[in-house]
Amino acid sequence: MKYQLIQLPYEANALEPVISKETIAFHHGKHLQGYVNNLNAAIEGTKYEDMPLEEIVKTADGGVFNNAGQILNHNLYFTQFCAPKVDNQPTGVIAQWIDQQFGSFDAFKEEFAKKGATLFGSGWVWLSVDKDGKLVITQEPNANNPVQRGLRPLLTFDVWEHAYYLDYQNRRPDHLAALWQIVDWDVVNGRL
Ligand code: MN
Repeated sequence: MKYQLIQLPYEANALEPVISKETIAFHHGKHLQGYVNNLNAAIEGTKYEDMPLEEIVKTADGGVFNNAGQILNHNLYFTQFCAPKVDNQPTGVIAQWIDQQFGSFDAFKEEFAKKGATLFGSGWVWLSVDKDGKLVITQEPNANNPVQRGLRPLLTFDVWEHAYYLDYQNRRPDHLAALWQIVDWDVVNGRL
């Protein structure tokens, strides 16, 4: 099976000023396209050719894992955003669970921001849920994804420099703080 570059559910400039259209053009059009091209080349004629993406991420290693992991990560990342809202707040079931399990949205954001800011090098900070309904925030290096440890991923911020350097240069914490304005909480609820 050939993988395709995921279509964005919004225009390239729809997330401005939080994420510029230039960053979207490089991040989606160049970086993610590169992972798609690399994976398609790497799995041709192998046992991974007809395996679902999550299964590849759970079982592969090396270049196949790296490119499959980055496709899964970016597909979840790019489909969780909407146009900015200044006081964007969680809604529905995820709002209740965040309040119950972290105390408040502010306390949750503080832990998420800390895990994102302190992740050394390239990777991702994730909100996931375990099989018992417990929310967990994890740092995942490089191309890793919480599905590797049996968690269901709900929300992720990409802390690879390619995700923010054009817009924020070295100010990773400022970028992470701004991302709350564009989280589509309906999408997060849909992943619960
Ligand atoms: Mn990325």
